[in-house]
Amino acid sequence: MSSNDDRPGSPRQQPLQADKQDRRSFLRSSVSAGVSVAAGSLVSGPVLASADNPVPINWDRSVDIVVVGGGAAGGSAAIKAHELGSEVLVLEKAPIFGGTAAKSVGGIWAPNNKYMQAAGLTDNRDDALKFMVRLSHPQDFNPDAEFYGAPEAVYLQLGTFYDTVNVALDELESFGALQTMPLNIGGMMMPDYFSHLAENKAPNGRAIVPQKPNGSLGNGAELMRQLKAAVDKRRIPVLTRHRADDLVLDDSGRVIGIVAIKRDGTRIKIEARKGVIFGSGGFTHNKQLQLDFLKGPIFGGCAVPTCEGDFIPIATRAGAQLGNMSNAWWAQLPLELALENPSVPTGIWCSPGDSMVQVNRFGKRFFDEKFVYNERTQVQFQWDPVSGSYPNLLSFLIYDQRTADEFANYAPLPPKGSDAAHVIKADTLEALEQQLVEKLRTIESRTAKFTLDDDFLASLKATVKRFNGFAESGVDEDFNRGGQPIDQFFHFFGPNQPTHNYPNMTLHPIATSGPYYAVILAAGTLDTKGGPKINEHAQVIDTRGQPIPGLYGAGNCIASMSGPAYWAGGATLGPALTFGNIAATHALTAATVS
Ligand SMILES: Cc1cc2nc3c(=O)[nH]c(=O)nc-3n(C[C@H](O)[C@H](O)[C@H](O)COP(=O)(O)OP(=O)(O)OC[C@H]3O[C@@H](n4cnc5c(N)ncnc54)[C@H](O)[C@@H]3O)c2cc1C
Repeated sequence: MSSNDDRPGSPRQQPLQADKQDRRSFLRSSVSAGVSVAAGSLVSGPVLASADNPVPINWDRSVDIVVVGGGAAGGSAAIKAHELGSEVLVLEKAPIFGGTAAKSVGGIWAPNNKYMQAAGLTDNRDDALKFMVRLSHPQDFNPDAEFYGAPEAVYLQLGTFYDTVNVALDELESFGALQTMPLNIGGMMMPDYFSHLAENKAPNGRAIVPQKPNGSLGNGAELMRQLKAAVDKRRIPVLTRHRADDLVLDDSGRVIGIVAIKRDGTRIKIEARKGVIFGSGGFTHNKQLQLDFLKGPIFGGCAVPTCEGDFIPIATRAGAQLGNMSNAWWAQLPLELALENPSVPTGIWCSPGDSMVQVNRFGKRFFDEKFVYNERTQVQFQWDPVSGSYPNLLSFLIYDQRTADEFANYAPLPPKGSDAAHVIKADTLEALEQQLVEKLRTIESRTAKFTLDDDFLASLKATVKRFNGFAESGVDEDFNRGGQPIDQFFHFFGPNQPTHNYPNMTLHPIATSGPYYAVILAAGTLDTKGGPKINEHAQVIDTRGQPIPGLYGAGNCIASMSGPAYWAGGATLGPALTFGNIAATHALTAATVS
């Protein structure tokens, strides 16, 4: 992907150099516009241009729409805004356009999409909304209640998503910005992650992917290649290594521009005549926000390193209300890769292997290893009230030579026959345990001295014996592994499709002799999904529940309507692309509406 500024260096490392005028303006606006002053935020803040006390703003640049973030949400917003006839500019903090979206698998969740319709699959609105509420608001869900028990504002967003996702995708296609195709593997339309729930009336076919020019399945890199090509074709400027740092507000509280910091530390002010749309990703790589808000301890995430939650202080200074801050799109990560660099290449979608288990510090299985990454990861947050600890904080993926060979190259397993620093290998389970003990000792300063229980080995042997019995019978009596359609889909999603003669393809006895392997897994994210709340027009909402005029958000930088839920593959990109489109539409076609 090309970049308009590909010089080395990180804007994050540059000192913030707020000019004196901005400081004064911020203090004034904080008081008069009711903006709360967060500790440490005095280096910059919203700038007030008031009729009574005018502050001259020397714009460095002026456009209709400023889009912050060159990921999925930002790409969609920029293209739609241009198609609506506006002058658009994209600010991107990283050296390249693409965001976390470019690292993704590229699945886009689109209920009632055209491929489902062509295949004769029904996905009606009420049923789809009921399913979404069931998982997004499990504590309030009531099929007989208004909005199925969800807050009205959330229900409106879910409904808008259902109504608009296919419009947004069709538009991208008609603009020549994105070609898609259904996500079918081996003739099976991808099931939702919760296709097994009674409320799911359209269990397969909602996930689609970008289509490569040669007609094959594309991933996130292909998605962002296509969006970037469309951005370039329209000559939309993308200012890379430009970090959005603050908003400029007028005396009515309307957002009229943005302050950005270039990699050399220079601050520039860009006028946004019609609106500012944030698509700046989550806060996975902001340690303080992680600690303050996430519901469990994480060791890193797959988001690009520039996803540091910048929108949160920027929007709260302008009075935004935050939501969904404790949730993320969770994923298990190889611990040692995350300790090396918290921005890891990928998550563990499904534990690869059939002759394989995951166990905790007691040598016991604690979930269905084949189920969805988002759900498995949260079991690592389980708290033991008596010992006052997280027994599953680290998980141990244990497997034998069969799995090492047959599932090679399915993360986190290395290619066949090769070693990897994060993989421990030993001839016996005894030796494997010893190596794990040693390894844990070397990293104890970063894992709160996490150790194996004294009975780990005996317990692991008992676990393997019990598991092998399940493999013989085909039924996992503890966690029903392989019992959900998504277990089967993920099992065969890797590079190889190994089969065997036991009754359940996801279960194969673990060998009675070595070599054995182990990988230490820790909790992490694809990225977070909390931030300023938006309404169904993608307008950011203030603490009084009113839209902040001129300010929009989409994707992982805002409070996701999904709450804790990960409905299906593509459930992050689908809404990001859709609400990017909605934001541009509202900013440009309802410009006089607050
Ligand atoms: C390995 C992997 C596989 C995945 N697979 C899927 C999948 O198949 N389907 C799915 O739905 N999701 C998937 N995801 C998740 C998905 O990639 C993200 O949820 C999605 O990219 C979010 O899009 P976004 O536009 O909100 O943010 P991003 O794509 O992360 O883009 C945000 C951009 O904003 C920029 N930015 C941040 N702060 C600033 C600032 N202050 N100023 C300027 N720019 C800024 C960042 O540099 C970044 O480029 C996957 C993620 C990973 C890591």
